[in-house]
Amino acid sequence: MTDVVVLGAGPAGLYSGLLLAHRGFEVSIIESGETPGGLASGLEIAGQRVDRGSHRLHPSIDDDILDDLSSLLGDDLQVRHRNGRIRLGGSWLRFPLSPTDLVTNLAVSTTARLARGALAALTRRPDDTTYESVVTTGLGRPMGDLFYFPYARKIWGAEPDELSGTQARRRIAADSPLKLLRKATSRSGGRSFLYPRRGFGQITDALADAVVDEGATLRLGSPVVGLKPDDEGWVVRLGNGQNTKAPLVLSTIPLAVLARLLDPPDEVAAALDGLESRAMILAYLVVPRERWTPYDAHYFPEEDLVFTRISESKNYRDSDEDPPAQTVLCVEIPVGPEHPLWVGDNQEILQRVRNDVVTTGLPDPGHFGVVHKLRNVYPIYRVGTEQNLKTVDRWVGQFSNLLTFGRQGLFAHDNTHHTLAMGRDAVASVTSSGRIDDGVWAQSRRSFATHVVED
Ligand SMILES: Cc1cc2nc3c(=O)[nH]c(=O)nc-3n(C[C@H](O)[C@H](O)[C@H](O)COP(=O)(O)OP(=O)(O)OC[C@H]3O[C@@H](n4cnc5c(N)ncnc54)[C@H](O)[C@@H]3O)c2cc1C
Repeated sequence: MTDVVVLGAGPAGLYSGLLLAHRGFEVSIIESGETPGGLASGLEIAGQRVDRGSHRLHPSIDDDILDDLSSLLGDDLQVRHRNGRIRLGGSWLRFPLSPTDLVTNLAVSTTARLARGALAALTRRPDDTTYESVVTTGLGRPMGDLFYFPYARKIWGAEPDELSGTQARRRIAADSPLKLLRKATSRSGGRSFLYPRRGFGQITDALADAVVDEGATLRLGSPVVGLKPDDEGWVVRLGNGQNTKAPLVLSTIPLAVLARLLDPPDEVAAALDGLESRAMILAYLVVPRERWTPYDAHYFPEEDLVFTRISESKNYRDSDEDPPAQTVLCVEIPVGPEHPLWVGDNQEILQRVRNDVVTTGLPDPGHFGVVHKLRNVYPIYRVGTEQNLKTVDRWVGQFSNLLTFGRQGLFAHDNTHHTLAMGRDAVASVTSSGRIDDGVWAQSRRSFATHVVED
């Protein structure tokens, strides 16, 4: 019997496990994957460290968490200047978007349309019913038509008016012309980020090493397949048939998986069907040249292209470990289970990516590479999803000494720095006797609801 079992070894699970171990608790972290890190983990392709889609650590991370990461990573955690581009209406603009760029790099007629739309939005009453209404009343319909609506269709596979206002509130940081202007003229303008020399996965690798050094147990390749309350707390059943017991369970695995383990009543089971997630194909292309382009990432809202983003890991860091004569691109293709590429053959995916890249005028990347497929990447908030989420969350919340948090644990869109903060706050709600202080946790949950994702 340990004091605490943590489910999932992504950033939230690892950081909470580390802080609990620091406090002297006996901790066991159970992870289904063969490596730690979850969505934020790294991998190696053709001798180069790469990420699971473009990942950056945003400078808005809380100071105490940054101090912890800095002490684990030292000089390897580099401050970098963003150098991304977005393709809008056939033109290339800097990304994150800046009003100056919108004025100077788009066709005059497009800029005039955006400006008219933004001015009209300033006089409209905000309407947060749907994704479409938030964008239209905040930034103007022309901005939606040019960028936010096609991007939403590609990322979440749904029409902007089918998506709930939550999707916009949690995903669009600058949702009014004034906020866009403020962001563009702020000191950093959202243009710097933190990134480890050996790839984003170096963060979770360092956390995993620290967890083990602190004496916690990290069990990899161990899916949790059962969870039952008993007189002493919780019995956690693992895929290999073994049980582990603890008075307290902190869960960061997907909320729907957790709820199903707890044997939900019909009403909750029905609500669980309403928690849909988008999957993603990651195509890694190995390009036989030193750099593909000088940019770190290219963003593609246009619907005739199959991908939403292409990142070049080498340009996220300054590292003499990267092979000099080749570079690896990571191409993100969000899909649903019905998409022909999801069930398609890898060569077909790589060839499709190559063909689409060439139509943009970017250098031909060839089609040599590997393909990975990830489930449960982006939560989809349709109108009504919040009600299903409330039903599930309320029911799971009735179990004592069980907390659910993290990006998938709360069915949220959150960044890594948000999920690390959730891990820290979950541990802050654990009393010295190893129980949950419900009041402290309720207050933290309210603060998580204010998180807005940074791209
Ligand atoms: C394409 C993409 C780009 C992103 N870019 C950024 C970015 O630039 N900056 C940023 O800050 N964030 C970014 N994020 C978000 C970031 O990846 C997440 O915020 C972070 O990984 C969430 O951490 P977590 O610990 O909450 O969850 P996860 O990383 O999802 O970890 C959950 C863990 O639980 C495990 N698990 C699931 N089921 C079970 C089970 N039954 N038993 C045991 N273990 C289980 C999983 O294997 C996983 O390891 C991006 C995400 C994506 C998908």
